[in-house]
Amino acid sequence: MAQLITGIHHVTAIAADTQKNVDFYTGVLGLRLVKKTVNFDAPDVYHLYYGDEAGNPGSILTFFPYTGLVRGRHGKGMLNTTTFSVPSASIGYWEERFRKFNVKYKPAEERFGTEVVIYFEDADGLGLELVFNDHDKRFGYSYGQIPLEHAIKGFYNVEIWQEGYERTAGLLTGQMDHQLIAEKGNRFRFAANDSPGNYVDILCTPDSLRGLGGSGTVHHLAFATTDKESQTTMQKKLLEGSFNPTPILDRNYFTSIYFREPGGVLFEVATSGPGFDVDEDLAHLGELLKLPAQYESRRSRLEQELPPVTLHIDQYK
Ligand code: ZN
Repeated sequence: MAQLITGIHHVTAIAADTQKNVDFYTGVLGLRLVKKTVNFDAPDVYHLYYGDEAGNPGSILTFFPYTGLVRGRHGKGMLNTTTFSVPSASIGYWEERFRKFNVKYKPAEERFGTEVVIYFEDADGLGLELVFNDHDKRFGYSYGQIPLEHAIKGFYNVEIWQEGYERTAGLLTGQMDHQLIAEKGNRFRFAANDSPGNYVDILCTPDSLRGLGGSGTVHHLAFATTDKESQTTMQKKLLEGSFNPTPILDRNYFTSIYFREPGGVLFEVATSGPGFDVDEDLAHLGELLKLPAQYESRRSRLEQELPPVTLHIDQYK
């Protein structure tokens, strides 16, 4: 039978300041704002999607910016670090860029003997990394302020902290088509698809505190499935495994089911399509506030109440 899970789809996190969030991800990192919409479950809050040119699965980092929300805490039972992929020759470029725009970063370190990684955080303390590598065949994207040979190509991996790796690993390998592909020390790397953008690292951190939700933390991790048929099969499989998935929800750009993995992280399974060009042209992604049909009648009020979002790409050259 074909795989039901094909890799990572997106990561969704929580921010405390909309414009700072937009400036950091589009300006400093050069990701494309591919969709400006609202939280479908709470339309008075934005849902901002950043990714590569088309917002392909494996490149999409999304945010709910709740103005002034208190900070959360990294810890066990949480996805604490999202890692982006860049070419190995770009390390000097990015270190200089971080210094130029006052992004605090840690000294480069080696991982699995083959990867060089730099850890940094956004203004809310969200854990991020760049991994410098030469086996990612995807194209990078930037608005032009970052030379394409240094641009981010999408995710490389995500990092989940757990008391022990076994129960989450059991779900990933048992129900979700993942295999253990590397381990070193307390890091266990799984993938449904052994390519950059799809690695799920579980870190055993028994001595850390449990994570607490708030700004600067990840809300959920979404995995990709091909279409609604594979999603329905996945839902059935999760039900049989007592993981209590939600009904299939329409998110306009994909459909989704949600469930909590045994270590406490909220997982989603999202369809790869129809994608972000379903309601605006590829050339104009992210330019207008897009609302699902059920909120169109509230558009004028939402446009008044949501803070304005402006791209300041010129300030990040
Ligand atoms: Zn999601």
